[in-house]
Amino acid sequence: MPELPEVEVVRAGLAPAVTGARVAGVEVLDARSLKRHEAASGGFEALLTGERIEAAVRRGKFLWMPLAGGTALVGHLGMSGQLLLRTPDHPGDDRHARIRLHLEHPVHGELRVDFVDQRIFGSMAIDRMVPTADGEVAGFSADVTGPWARSIPSQVAHIARDPLDPAFDDAAFAAALARRATGVKRVLLDQGVASGIGNIYADEALWAVRMHGEQPGSSLGRRRVRDLLAAVREVLQKALAEGGTSFDAQYVNVNGASGYFAHSLNAYGRAGRPCPRCGTPIVREAFMNRSSHRCPRCQRLRASVRRVAAHDASARVVRVTPAATSPGSSAGGTPAPG
Ligand SMILES: [Zn+2]
Repeated sequence: MPELPEVEVVRAGLAPAVTGARVAGVEVLDARSLKRHEAASGGFEALLTGERIEAAVRRGKFLWMPLAGGTALVGHLGMSGQLLLRTPDHPGDDRHARIRLHLEHPVHGELRVDFVDQRIFGSMAIDRMVPTADGEVAGFSADVTGPWARSIPSQVAHIARDPLDPAFDDAAFAAALARRATGVKRVLLDQGVASGIGNIYADEALWAVRMHGEQPGSSLGRRRVRDLLAAVREVLQKALAEGGTSFDAQYVNVNGASGYFAHSLNAYGRAGRPCPRCGTPIVREAFMNRSSHRCPRCQRLRASVRRVAAHDASARVVRVTPAATSPGSSAGGTPAPG
């Protein structure tokens, strides 16, 4: 499933080719890929043909292309969707191609963008734009000066900003954690709290700060929240940097589970292999129809995080060490109320 770094690779690859291009033609090869297009607003082909694409913008793992007419082309990649840039003479024999856009670019000439989606969880849609709730730039793109910059497709408006977004609200993130008695990993994956953190990156960030995914959000002190957010950003930045180095391959690999990033994972997918920090074998546990990977020694449930943090906001003791964890605590244990 494509995550933020994979989608950013797609966005960055498409942007120079589509920005300023006119849509000369649209072929819908499989109408199931229009399931999020509201027919009431008009036919997908009719609304898109003749439009000019203004940019390629991303929020979390959602991608859209603002159109000169004021709407946007939204690409939901779903589980297996890809947006492939082709030359016009590229053979059209991909049996999973669902939608094909024929573009005319003032500099690059004729181009084709194929929406290829094996499992059809993804889709494309023309959507109306609504102003961003906070009035800030809606998402990441090279140019944020257009009239579309502070508007967002209505289908994406409920998605929170991602932690790499300059307008991400750290205080609101901390407040959302403080309100939740559920495990911190669930909160990290909640696209209404922060977008773009998938299962892999959540596990890696939790490993980096030695935090158990079931640690209640409300039990975390301010410093732990800050450390967690910093770790999330570091993991995402690292994945972005590595994705950028194997750029062309990512067009092929975008539906893989971050294969290019796998060589530098510390916890995810490493069940039974030694924790790079302490040598204890990493364990794999069921989590929301997926799995979580963690070090059973470094990442234990802790009971007293909040109390320690409340007494001394600057205390370094908040950092987790094996000594700070009661020896009797187990993976399934419930922390005492702080
Ligand atoms: Zn460890």
